[in-house]
Amino acid sequence: MIIVLHRDCSLKDKASVVRYIEQRGGRLLVSVVGDETHIGLIGSESQALASAIGAMPGVAEIRAVAPPYPHVSREYQPQPTEVRVGPVVIGASEVVIIAGPCSVESGPQLEAIAGSVAGEGARMLRGGAFKPRTSPYSFQGLGEEGLALLSAMSAETGLPVVTEVVAPEDVQLVARYADMLQIGARNMQNFRLLSAAGEQEKPVLLKRGIAATVEELLLAAEYVVSAGNLRVVLCERGIRTFETSTRNTLDISAVPVLKRRTHLPVIVDPSHAAGERELVPHLARAAIACGADGIIVEVHNDPDTALSDGRQSLTLAGFGEMMGQLRGIASAMGRQVAGRRQVQAAR
Ligand code: PEP
Ligand code: MN
Repeated sequence: MIIVLHRDCSLKDKASVVRYIEQRGGRLLVSVVGDETHIGLIGSESQALASAIGAMPGVAEIRAVAPPYPHVSREYQPQPTEVRVGPVVIGASEVVIIAGPCSVESGPQLEAIAGSVAGEGARMLRGGAFKPRTSPYSFQGLGEEGLALLSAMSAETGLPVVTEVVAPEDVQLVARYADMLQIGARNMQNFRLLSAAGEQEKPVLLKRGIAATVEELLLAAEYVVSAGNLRVVLCERGIRTFETSTRNTLDISAVPVLKRRTHLPVIVDPSHAAGERELVPHLARAAIACGADGIIVEVHNDPDTALSDGRQSLTLAGFGEMMGQLRGIASAMGRQVAGRRQVQAAR
């Protein structure tokens, strides 16, 4: 339910409407849309409350159309949200490229990859320290040691770091080291983890679950935002379909569909969708052409020996080549991908 106030509704009348809702235990969200003030009523009691409010002074109309994810919906906030991660802004005109290994394996490995991708124009560094692996016998990540390596490499290259958190009790630890917390596909509906990420201040990268609809992804984002953290970026990373020729099926149409329904930035992970490095640049180009605000991509200095996802990791040279192509596509879309730069070694 959305309560639309008269354009000339007085402050006193606005306050009475808000008080009326709050005194009856209703939850609300106030937003300004053009020159109109909208009060969104959230929750199961909204219908009963709205009918009484319709007769109050200052109220122009009650609209019954309201998505179940008010905080993240475009209806409540038409202007796009820009999410700042250190010096980087996701959701503005720059298409932000995030690159790095699937897993942090060692200091030398991370240093080789971070230095190279930074030089090629990556604006953020990725790397898993806590890995959600399908098999309990696969490499599970370096844990806190991996977080410390990421944070040291961030200081050296100037790239903010995004890394995954897999459990609510690890949120504070990961937030101490990382600039952005990733919630992975397997945890998209771990509701306690979503709320815990919403109760801290670092921005959140929320990946779509392998069998989640767009609506479920938006509801997962609503968990984070309604807990108090507005800095959420969504990521399409491929979903499971009957098709087996790729690891997952990149749902490219999810990009414009999400952009229509939410004000949150949307990025694409071509690596986990493709499953093989040769396909990755094709999907990354498509994503930018489709309006994605960024790409998160796996890169390794020696993919054949990688402890996870080597087959889908770009080589350092492959990443550089792809970056050239992405600049061309971004420019055709009236956007930019950062240029190559000299990376100063701090040591
Ligand atoms: C990852 O980014 O390394 C990862 C595990 O991604 P996803 O959660 O999308 O599978
Ligand atoms: Mn991976």
